[in-house]
Amino acid sequence: MKPEYHYRFPNPNDFADMIVDLDEYWKPVLHICDAVTAMEGNGPTQGTPKHVGCLIASKNPHRLDVLAASLIGLTPSDVPTIAAAVRRNLTPESVDEIEIAGDWKSFLQEDFELIRNRNSLLFVGGNNVFGRTVRGAMNACLASKPKVKTSACVGCGKCRDICPAHTIAIKNKKAVIDRRHCIKCFCCQEFCPVGAMGVHRSPVAKLLTHGKESSK
Ligand code: SF4
Ligand code: SF4
Repeated sequence: MKPEYHYRFPNPNDFADMIVDLDEYWKPVLHICDAVTAMEGNGPTQGTPKHVGCLIASKNPHRLDVLAASLIGLTPSDVPTIAAAVRRNLTPESVDEIEIAGDWKSFLQEDFELIRNRNSLLFVGGNNVFGRTVRGAMNACLASKPKVKTSACVGCGKCRDICPAHTIAIKNKKAVIDRRHCIKCFCCQEFCPVGAMGVHRSPVAKLLTHGKESSK
């Protein structure tokens, strides 16, 4: 149901709140993060494998996430699900306030390739008409979009079938995106079996992020 929920909650902060809602509803008893081989660079599937050699387990998923984020140098405000959990007092904000068994600092990744989140680049203006207009324009300029690598596409139709906005068609055995209805959830990229769905970044985004930006 993930693609459907992307469609229902296109705002990343709303989506993060929904994820935290799910965990609160189901209350799994144990959470495990396999960080033996992590991925740095542009997710969700096009990054570079990196050996970290770490396995984390916790009864509290949000405390686990704070630790995992801290290992690679992310702060809670970088990760919407952690920020949502902090707002609800489900986890402390700092890893220093969490009781951790084991020498976690030996797994710290000093040189992990971090991708700046588009939200961190947005102009923080007032909440008046001018501020909202400028933020909207900046958002449109910085937003990444899915882009089909035509030579790699095998026309299997998986992206068309998974797209929650139903905005992908297969024409002449190649995927074609109607961008007018795309909500930029990147499920198409995640599910493409041959890596033929790439990420298009605007020249403005490349300039501001030195060519690096999260796809989500
Ligand atoms: S899933 Fe990938 S290979 Fe299949 S049609 Fe879409 S872009 Fe092409
Ligand atoms: S085209 Fe891709 S990014 Fe856009 S809505 Fe469909 S699955 Fe999401």
